Amino acid sequence: MSVDSVIIGEGPAGVTAALYLTRSGASVHLVEQMTTGGQILQTAALENYPGYPKGIKGYELADLFAAHLEGLDSLERSTQTVVGVSGKAGAFTVTLKNGKTIDAKTVLVCTGAKHRMLGVDREKELTGHGVSYCALCDGNFFRGKSIAVVGGGNAALEESLYLANIVDTIHLVHRRNEFRARKVYQDRLKAMPEKVIFHLDSCVEALHGKENLEGITVRNIKTSATQDIAVEALFVYVGFEPVTSFLPQELERDPAGFIITDVEMRTSIPGIFAAGDIRSKLCRQVITAAGDGATAAQAAFVFLEQLHE
Ligand SMILES: Cc1cc2nc3c(=O)[nH]c(=O)nc-3n(C[C@H](O)[C@H](O)[C@H](O)COP(=O)(O)OP(=O)(O)OC[C@H]3O[C@@H](n4cnc5c(N)ncnc54)[C@H](O)[C@@H]3O)c2cc1C
Repeated sequence: MSVDSVIIGEGPAGVTAALYLTRSGASVHLVEQMTTGGQILQTAALENYPGYPKGIKGYELADLFAAHLEGLDSLERSTQTVVGVSGKAGAFTVTLKNGKTIDAKTVLVCTGAKHRMLGVDREKELTGHGVSYCALCDGNFFRGKSIAVVGGGNAALEESLYLANIVDTIHLVHRRNEFRARKVYQDRLKAMPEKVIFHLDSCVEALHGKENLEGITVRNIKTSATQDIAVEALFVYVGFEPVTSFLPQELERDPAGFIITDVEMRTSIPGIFAAGDIRSKLCRQVITAAGDGATAAQAAFVFLEQLHE
């Protein structure tokens, strides 16, 4: 099978790229390992996407993205994991986990980012037994219970606000004395002192419990004082990391492993474009991912035209 472009990932960046490239008349194969939506499926609600003044639930936006793709008759799609990209401009081979390959003139990498682990003992063993990275998926299991959230960015505070509607008490643990998250989220959480207990300048040092999480040890980084807190869940939001191991080694990345592009989403390898959270950039949001996807599609289209000249 041979197409003009393979787009990898059906998050906001990949969906937008597919819409733009298909409508330009290019033949496109979109590959997604799970289902349409990407990280927005882990998001309770988005309040900052234009056009939804009352906010929109993550899964609702994902459903709308999926419906939009359904309308593209000429788009080919596979539910598969991409495990390799090789070749050169005009002649790339994209290898899928099932062993099949797709030949493509250009490749658009829209594979986003995955959550970073906290890095404490027993984290893996207790994942799914109290340790979670997705409040939307697991929050309901802890209705009326005491839980902890670790992290200080937008995701940590947004998801704490979501959890505040479900659980009894939230211990919010952050290693600095200030949050990076938007002020509006901070203000809302601070307005619930009966529900949200802040542990600033602190880290989660240990996880306790036999089969399920029963508590955590929190250490104050400045005083070294430790405190054992009984919680049934720990939601971890300590950042995201790119997954680029399936891409050529020579593709330029920043020190954190995110793909370096120019403003047209061109990478260091001609014919490979990157868009969305996988890219080295300041602002990782749905709107910026969608914007990157549109730019990458246009740049790929221009590239294809030049190849055909
Ligand atoms: C908890 C949480 C709350 C958030 N809240 C907001 C918010 O309120 N507002 C906002 O604007 N943004 C929010 N974000 C950020 C936003 O969701 C991301 O910036 C956005 O989804 C990035 O889009 P993307 O398309 O670049 O990547 P992703 O959404 O990560 O999608 C990437 C897709 O690629 C697929 N994929 C990865 N590797 C492969 C492979 N090898 N083969 C095939 N498929 C692959 C993945 O399965 C995934 O579907 C939040 C994120 C989280 C986690």
